[in-house]
Amino acid sequence: MIGLLGGTFDPIHFGHLRIALEVADALDLEQVRFIPNRVPPHRRQPLASGAERLMMIQAAIQGESRFVADDRELRQDKTSYTVHTLQALHQEFPHQSWAFIIGVDAFLPLQSWFEWQNLFKLTHFIVVGRPGYALTNPSETAWFQPYLVDSVADLTRHSVGKVLPIGIQGLDISATQLRNMIAREQNPRYLTPDSVCAMIKAQQLYKNKV
Ligand code: ATP
Repeated sequence: MIGLLGGTFDPIHFGHLRIALEVADALDLEQVRFIPNRVPPHRRQPLASGAERLMMIQAAIQGESRFVADDRELRQDKTSYTVHTLQALHQEFPHQSWAFIIGVDAFLPLQSWFEWQNLFKLTHFIVVGRPGYALTNPSETAWFQPYLVDSVADLTRHSVGKVLPIGIQGLDISATQLRNMIAREQNPRYLTPDSVCAMIKAQQLYKNKV
């Protein structure tokens, strides 16, 4: 099974790396593919360019052989919806099954995603906790109860369409927090790998911008 971690990664940080590692170990994943989004023009733009965000991901995942930077969405000249990205991955790796790793904050509003029901025909979702968010409010969680499983064994009995919440060591780090720190000239060290800090410094990313 291959893990997928989509996001803006503006910039990548230890919160992302930690969830990828914990899920890769728990599910014995062959790979985790980090897929930076191309943000559509009408949405708030990332401060770093696609190329810069990709370079920071490549630097951050050095040394973990299961982690792969996948720039397919950045290479498109239009917005790529997750459903289309998953279809392309199915074509490229026809014999694989997929585990889309996602934080609770991003998973709860999933019904607003383009063709969200079709996502469940293409992948499993592994939902990881994030400090400040919970899966406890019945009005927010009712919609995915039919897809829920409670163990890895249960998940792997199906090839797609299941939701597995996984307890992890939550790290209270966000890219927003990092960008704000850097704009205030505070040191982002130990929140993201040194290689990423070095790149941010060299390219003067996030400086004087919030
Ligand atoms: P921003 O602060 O700019 O919104 P972010 O830190 O949430 O960024 P994204 O690139 O938007 O990072 O996140 C990609 C995915 O990683 C999402 O599924 C998100 O829920 C998850 N994620 C990010 N940080 C954490 C964290 N500290 N713990 C658990 N999940 C996280």
